[in-house]
Amino acid sequence: MEEQKTSKQLLGELLDKHYADALQAKAEGKKIAWSTSIAPQELLETMGIHVVYPENHAAAIGARKHAQQFINHSEGNGYSVDICSYARVNLAYMDIQECEAANMPLPDFIFCCNNICNTVIKWYENIAKELNIPMILFDLPFNHQYEVNDQNVKYIKGQFLHAIAQLEEITEQRFDYDRFREVMKISSETSKWWKKASLLARAKPSPLNGFDLFNYMATIVCMRGTREGLELFKLWHDELAEKSEKGIGPWKDGEEKYRVMWDGIACWPYLADTYKVLKKNGINMVTSTYPDSWYIVYEENDLDGMARAYSSNYVNRNLDFGADNIINIVKDFSLDGIIYHSNRSCKLMDFRQFEVQRRVEAATGIPSVIFDGDQTDPRAFSLAQYETRIQALVEMMEARKKNGGIR
Ligand code: SF4
Repeated sequence: MEEQKTSKQLLGELLDKHYADALQAKAEGKKIAWSTSIAPQELLETMGIHVVYPENHAAAIGARKHAQQFINHSEGNGYSVDICSYARVNLAYMDIQECEAANMPLPDFIFCCNNICNTVIKWYENIAKELNIPMILFDLPFNHQYEVNDQNVKYIKGQFLHAIAQLEEITEQRFDYDRFREVMKISSETSKWWKKASLLARAKPSPLNGFDLFNYMATIVCMRGTREGLELFKLWHDELAEKSEKGIGPWKDGEEKYRVMWDGIACWPYLADTYKVLKKNGINMVTSTYPDSWYIVYEENDLDGMARAYSSNYVNRNLDFGADNIINIVKDFSLDGIIYHSNRSCKLMDFRQFEVQRRVEAATGIPSVIFDGDQTDPRAFSLAQYETRIQALVEMMEARKKNGGIR
């Protein structure tokens, strides 16, 4: 009898297949899309279009510590060091088309949604211009009000319908609304299981080492609308639930002494280093603001709900929401501290970080530190600085514990 695979094994296999299938499709002359990470992939999945994600791909190159050569190439072509490093890696990959991570085929059109930042518009416009291919753009306004307002929902829904017409023109195929309903259902279900699994980290000790959230994130980006993605997250949830019932913590060889949240993207080139420093100090990163961005849930066949969901990710929400979101996470996950990654690439996530930190500390009293880094540019991170900040955090968390929760 074939042994049941673990979710980790499945994760690796699915990601390999994701890129292999895209290369195969390209070789067969099928259409390939490049998409931003939180775009309405349901439309592409419905049309059976193979889609790959430059942010995912750049992160994989970064995690293999090969980003620098791509960054050098882009900067040599005149792209500024101040541009997001995902863009610099990807724009170079477009020229080089060979990397240490899995390769991905060049696109036949671009699918771009600015609910994560406006950098992606210029980045993707450049791709479309250089390759002379169409670009489908979703303009999702930043939510200056606390909630997503009805006008925005209407505006976004109109763009979904327009994109369907554009896709029909590009592929010369009819859009199948029955299949769309099915994909919507799968996508929402997958998001729910992703969230359910990550919420198991509320247990003390947490069965989840939060760096796994970063590892599994690649799949919630690229397989949200597929049955394989749905099965993966159910399996991951069940594995974590079983660990939790048995009272098993994040590590076989260490106790969870402190529970922290990580704000922002991981430092992919230093994933192991940043993890080891925490583990050495008994710090478990139980949750993060970032992975919640793929909790995109709405009712089947509800385009208004889908429009609202795609506009609801935390980077597209105002400062009050950003602070409240973390305050709730602190309580929900019984946190001892927060690590804020001041990510040089990601201006939108960073520029309000100090004010969010100030408000969260005032509301919860828990200590936090900010360190400098970048998600893929290895030059922007210093391990020594990171270690010093983590040491300071440990001292503050320890003092607070000794004082019965008061600093
Ligand atoms: S890392 Fe930040 S700047 Fe770069 S694409 Fe993502 S959201 Fe935009």
